[in-house]
Amino acid sequence: MEELNKLAFDLLWTWQPRIQALFRILDPEKWEQTHQNPVLLLKQLGEEGLAEACKREEVKRALDDARAAQRQYYDRNPPFLDAHAPLVIAYFSLEFGLAECLPIYSGGLGVLAGDHLKATSDLGLPLVAVSLFYKQGFGRQEIDAGGRQVEVYGENRGDELPVKKVDGVEVEAPIGNQTVRIAVWKTQVGRVPLYLLDTDLPTNPPELRTITDRLYVPEPDRRLRQEIVLGIGGVRALRALGLGANVFHLNEGHSFLCGIERIRELRASRQMTLEEARLVARAGIVFTTHTPIAAGSDYFEPGLVWDLLGPYLSSVGISFDRFMDLGRQRPGDPREKLCTTYAALRLADQSVGVSRLHGAVSRRLWKDAWRGLSETQVPIGSVTNGVHMPTWVAPEVAALLTRFVGPDWWDLDGKDGRWQAVFEIPAAELWALHTALKRRLLEVVKVRGEHTEDLDLNALTIGFGRRFAPYKRADLLLRDRARLTKLLQNTKRPVQLLFAGKSHPADQPGKDILAGVVGLAREEARVVFLKDYDIELASALVQGADVWLNNPRRFLEASGTSGMKAAANGILNVSILDGWWDEGYRPDLGWAIPSGATIDRPATDDLAEAEGLYRLLEREVVPAFYERDAAGLPQRWIQMMRTSIRYVVTGFAARRMVLDYFDSAYAAGARRVEQLRLLPDWGG
Ligand SMILES: *Cc1c(COP(=O)(O)O)cnc(C)c1O
Repeated sequence: MEELNKLAFDLLWTWQPRIQALFRILDPEKWEQTHQNPVLLLKQLGEEGLAEACKREEVKRALDDARAAQRQYYDRNPPFLDAHAPLVIAYFSLEFGLAECLPIYSGGLGVLAGDHLKATSDLGLPLVAVSLFYKQGFGRQEIDAGGRQVEVYGENRGDELPVKKVDGVEVEAPIGNQTVRIAVWKTQVGRVPLYLLDTDLPTNPPELRTITDRLYVPEPDRRLRQEIVLGIGGVRALRALGLGANVFHLNEGHSFLCGIERIRELRASRQMTLEEARLVARAGIVFTTHTPIAAGSDYFEPGLVWDLLGPYLSSVGISFDRFMDLGRQRPGDPREKLCTTYAALRLADQSVGVSRLHGAVSRRLWKDAWRGLSETQVPIGSVTNGVHMPTWVAPEVAALLTRFVGPDWWDLDGKDGRWQAVFEIPAAELWALHTALKRRLLEVVKVRGEHTEDLDLNALTIGFGRRFAPYKRADLLLRDRARLTKLLQNTKRPVQLLFAGKSHPADQPGKDILAGVVGLAREEARVVFLKDYDIELASALVQGADVWLNNPRRFLEASGTSGMKAAANGILNVSILDGWWDEGYRPDLGWAIPSGATIDRPATDDLAEAEGLYRLLEREVVPAFYERDAAGLPQRWIQMMRTSIRYVVTGFAARRMVLDYFDSAYAAGARRVEQLRLLPDWGG
């Protein structure tokens, strides 16, 4: 029991199929029922059930294998381990998508943060992470009879999840004139600890207990309370845990208050002036902006900020006006709200967007944070996102890479010559494997979709899975129904469409688009809407579709990461040249949907872009898929799959992303903080 618990509480199992296999073998049904939650599974089986299960030979073998996988992981000494012993980087994010059973994420931002931790663990970098422990997570999605999304909130119980309460650690954060007490939970992500803050304590008044109830509450008042707990409470929690982090990575602006708390602690412990503390704190702050539109930030009214933060700011020694100006496009305008992106940009020394194109969009969007600099001089760079390959690459594809490239394929640089071996994978083998993954996807589709009996294993299957935000245009293919129907109902070369995604509960236009797609799915036999898009479903889709479709309004998709997951599995992308695809696209590994948008004129004609998409599908994608040799293999397609795997597995890996952050921001930040702290005091 103790050993199984050790395996269950280390989220290493989320990217080690050999450990997952053990839990599945213990009880396949319970494993699925619990949303692949090993802690709950063990609890439900109980001592007796486990003793019974462990008598089975296959369980014994699986346990040995899981143990071996765990041992191999920790015995392998990654290059960074110990090399930076005194350095601790603290990574703050309002959400982390790590496992299906840990619902403290909503979508792409969280999954990216989760992948960041997993890759950091692989590399052995000294990083700890901070977030909130939500009692209700983000809500599961049901579809009602009218085709509309309904959110269902479950309850996250600490004793049923792979999290543990940190005993004896409780910190406080200021909420106006009140003080909220915060408990700390910990979840272990391989070598990286993630600390989760929780205000649901009986010692808190009721209105403060509910702060960490739900992710992405829409009300600014509740949102600011969460950001106080994350930013201020988060830094205090690290100190209470004895962690001396001096580099702080803010994943999105939600954690900007971490910068103010850094200033406060530097002033209090080292008697610095406000200006000194600001500079030392700043040297260690790294900020990643994710939104390509100004409205994507949080905005807080001056009155609200005054009510919730007024007393705290005077304890920091920063005037209310100066604080508000940090977050204003036009400092000095008393009516302007505080924008978390401006505030984070002005607190951080290193700010980046999440793809090269998004870096350029961000320089334009936020240039007013640096009055007097031209757009090209604005110091916002970019670190292109990446995905954690051992998590997202199907075990079958991973086995192929192990055979052809090497067992450490996931840890190899893109320049490594061994990658050329991907081109030696036999076409028949790759196609058979892909077909098996597609069959598995169609099994998942039966569980999550309605009337799925007409789906065909041999039809070109297009996957579309992402948040239903209007700019992502899930309905672009619906603009010309007749033309779409022709694609779907072609008897010789049929196309089928799988849609999945949630809308934010407060996003009416997004929900309308979703209802439109559900309506289409109920009319067209070859279109299915899959409910409750989550990590499990995303994984099946990006491993088993033939084509991954992404058609956002250009310049509005900061990065997009699902396309990377798909490409790494040999699923070919058909996408607008936006976000990562603007730099990842090559004609030998996917297709670009033409778009008339430019950075100066981002508004485009949806109909014209839909026309371009239909044409691309009709003239290039469908013919390429159905072009077969004597053995029934689409040779040209398979070569594109190999190229896609070859370049995306390394170029868009979270491993590469974390190393980029380390090289361009973490290491230099840590050095500068130390140097500044060691400067002699000039007195006065
Ligand atoms: C990868 C992922 C996302 C992000 O996908 P985008 O392409 O960035 O929209 C969202 N949700 C889940 C569950 C994911 O796995």
